[in-house]
Amino acid sequence: MSPTLLSFAFALALAASLMVKFWLSTRQIRHVAAHRDAVPAAFAGSVTLAAHQKAADYTIARSRFGLLALAFNAAVLLGWTLLGGLHALNGWVLELSGALPEGWRTMGYQLGLVGAFVLIGSLLDLPWEMWSTFRIEQAFGFNRTTLRLYLADMLKGLAVGVLLGLPIVALILWLMGAAGPLWWLWAWLAWVGFQLLVMVLYPTVIAPLFNKFEPLTDAALKERVERLMARCGFAAKGLFVMDGSRRSAHGNAYFSGFGPAKRVVFFDTLLTKLNGGEVEAVLAHELGHFKHRHITKRIALMFAMSLAGFALLGWLAEAPAFYAGLGVRPSLGAPNDALALILFLLAGPVFGFFVTPLAAHFSRRDEFQADAYARAQASGAALSSALLKLHEDNAGTLTPDPVYARFYYSHPPAAERLAALAT
Ligand SMILES: [Zn+2]
Repeated sequence: MSPTLLSFAFALALAASLMVKFWLSTRQIRHVAAHRDAVPAAFAGSVTLAAHQKAADYTIARSRFGLLALAFNAAVLLGWTLLGGLHALNGWVLELSGALPEGWRTMGYQLGLVGAFVLIGSLLDLPWEMWSTFRIEQAFGFNRTTLRLYLADMLKGLAVGVLLGLPIVALILWLMGAAGPLWWLWAWLAWVGFQLLVMVLYPTVIAPLFNKFEPLTDAALKERVERLMARCGFAAKGLFVMDGSRRSAHGNAYFSGFGPAKRVVFFDTLLTKLNGGEVEAVLAHELGHFKHRHITKRIALMFAMSLAGFALLGWLAEAPAFYAGLGVRPSLGAPNDALALILFLLAGPVFGFFVTPLAAHFSRRDEFQADAYARAQASGAALSSALLKLHEDNAGTLTPDPVYARFYYSHPPAAERLAALAT
């Protein structure tokens, strides 16, 4: 592998992915705009023109914003890599770390580099996230968060990120330096253990830092849900209502946790919008994902892919061309593991983008299966009306561009889902 060849492949993949993303988004904008004036015939009786137009405007506003963010992120990526940003940051952190005591220098330098990189990246993202929340979501009536709550969330997120992220990054960096040629296998095992730990901690420790969870008190709904779960052969450790309305008007329901520790969480926004039968149908859909083992399969796939990723990184980290080809000169007299890790995280998604349609395809297949399960265990009609309500409440467009939807949509377009439920 020569550095020039890698630079060329990287630039080519970046340009190609940008062109594809730009092409898809402009298709989506044009398609939605062209169908803005009339509610599709299949929804004529159930969706008002005003709701349809709000969905069109919301989709177009977000897509336009997405195009700007796309250009910005590509510039940032080029800035980090081929234009020498990471190289400059590396030199600076390396120099600063010289002031650390001998025994701390190596790890201090590496963690400092990762920390500085993450911090700068987050600061660059922040205005975009704030614009999305306080401008776009606000304009369409979805935002419920205040600047104060937003900032509090950010600080809490930072604390959780440091508490969880720092030890695992330090462990991986240590393994890279100390565990020999098969370090990537050990690092992968550590990573898997970490992911499992987060899955256990999330519902009981992390999520309650951000939201209040209260036991479901509506007796009729509770009984209905418990009957459904008994019918489907599920045990859960509790039914909870989460105050999602503190931040957003979008509604949802989910399961979290493992085995008998599973808990069912309803957003309060979902319960105010749907009736008992509809809530039951939405939950039956989620149970369908469990019955078909979609969650387990997804986790297994994620672990398999991260194993391939670590193996690839194990190979690339040894190749000088990997650094030079992405705009960085490896440091002399200091380990390059943190640099390799960062470059891999920067360049990986550029190549990974091209499998998006494949992942989306399998995800949509899973959604159809879960819908079919919900129809069998609860009611297809109730699920249809719930989907339609949620779609309308989230201002999802009923007329996406077919190519855009094929490429990106993790859930089938509403028209296809409702048609499948009606057959
Ligand atoms: Zn689903």
